[in-house]
Amino acid sequence: MLHNSARAIDMKLHLHSQTDPRRHEQEGPLIITGGEGVYVRDDAGRRYMEGMAGLWTASLGFNDARLAAVASDQFGRLANYHTFNHRSNEACIDLMDQIASVSPLAPCKIFLANSGSEANDSMIKLAWYYQAARGKPGKRRIISRKGAFHGSTVMGAALSGLPHMHRSFNMATDDILYAGKPHHYREARPGESEEEFVDRLIHELEAIILQADPDSVAAMIAEPVMGAGGVIVPPQGYFPRLRKLLDKYDILLLADEVVCGFGRTGNWFGSQTFGFVPDMFSVAKGLSSGYLPIAAVVVSDKLYQAIADEGQRNGVFGHGFTYSGHPVTSAVAAEALRIYREMDVVARARSLGERMRTRLAEALAEHPMVGEIRSVGLIAGVELVADRATGESFPAEARVGARVERACRAHGIILRNMGDVLALCPPYVIEPEQIDELVQALSFAIEDVRDELER
Ligand code: PMP
Repeated sequence: MLHNSARAIDMKLHLHSQTDPRRHEQEGPLIITGGEGVYVRDDAGRRYMEGMAGLWTASLGFNDARLAAVASDQFGRLANYHTFNHRSNEACIDLMDQIASVSPLAPCKIFLANSGSEANDSMIKLAWYYQAARGKPGKRRIISRKGAFHGSTVMGAALSGLPHMHRSFNMATDDILYAGKPHHYREARPGESEEEFVDRLIHELEAIILQADPDSVAAMIAEPVMGAGGVIVPPQGYFPRLRKLLDKYDILLLADEVVCGFGRTGNWFGSQTFGFVPDMFSVAKGLSSGYLPIAAVVVSDKLYQAIADEGQRNGVFGHGFTYSGHPVTSAVAAEALRIYREMDVVARARSLGERMRTRLAEALAEHPMVGEIRSVGLIAGVELVADRATGESFPAEARVGARVERACRAHGIILRNMGDVLALCPPYVIEPEQIDELVQALSFAIEDVRDELER
């Protein structure tokens, strides 16, 4: 009864994020009522292993007791305060200390926000502010990439290079330039090596910059591994070449570490895995293990010095959110970072990732429906194809990825499909044997859909 009425209310009232509304009116929600470790439970009592850590978020699983205790303790001591006009609190100070201790930018300054979108919006505003501070306000344009995901706010969505993020929204994208994505499997020409492919991408980007006029370009934003675009792991040489090109034209490089940050790629940050130093980077999601909404931008000292001078000229640095540095979200995030350090999250992501890579290869590398398996650290994508030999995709209307995602649930796991790519991004608290189960359930699900397609 309760089950049915909750479903009905959700179907009646909820305009869901990133969901087909009419389909939702027909099919209704998956209502999750509890979580334990890497498992979540739905309102019908079914248990699923969460192979995506929610939305690339719950790195410590779904009911970490230390995070709960810290939240409760902070609620009891100071449940709200702000950081405008020189105000601060002990929890956000502790958090910044934790972030700085693992930051690849040192010295650095840290700006606190509440979501990945806000952090990315903030990076763009900081880039503009910096360019104005150094007398280059004409440097306004931002380079992003096709297939990128940077959020759902006006700027986050404009930066995103996924068609569904723009369609029918009448987006303000005049100042955004979209470069090609480093997706060798899909975008390379026949016979093109990774090195030749990177070379071509860099030349194409240089042409975009020259055509736009380098003096009109402020910054480029990039995810080290493109997540929502299909877990696209770039060739190793890509980011160092990109950094060099942007330096040549005096363009900032902003890393969106919202998915990659805090160990996911086998280093603290994706920039370290792919060999580049950004001018600033955004983090969210894993920052609090997704337990409370919090995000941050870490800014290099060079940028900060110019920004601070400009802020002084203006009387104030005119940016910031009511909940920037919120004491409870900050306390939880600080504790999550402490736990990551204690568990040696980098070593753990590497060894679990190696297991996941091996198991995926054993189960699926030769499968006729699998075109490519991409992975780094503890994140992977499995791209499904109609024809393995040619790489030909399934027709979109066959919704093969979505069908596999549904079949995964029947086998007791939750993954996410982005088109026909299945993403795996399990919590760091997953055990090696559970990785085996996850991969086995995925291969059963792919088999089920293959049977369906053959029938
Ligand atoms: N950047 C990346 C790389 C993301 O994956 C996401 C969220 N999926 C965002 C930004 C936006 O984060 P939020 O939804 O917290 O605004």
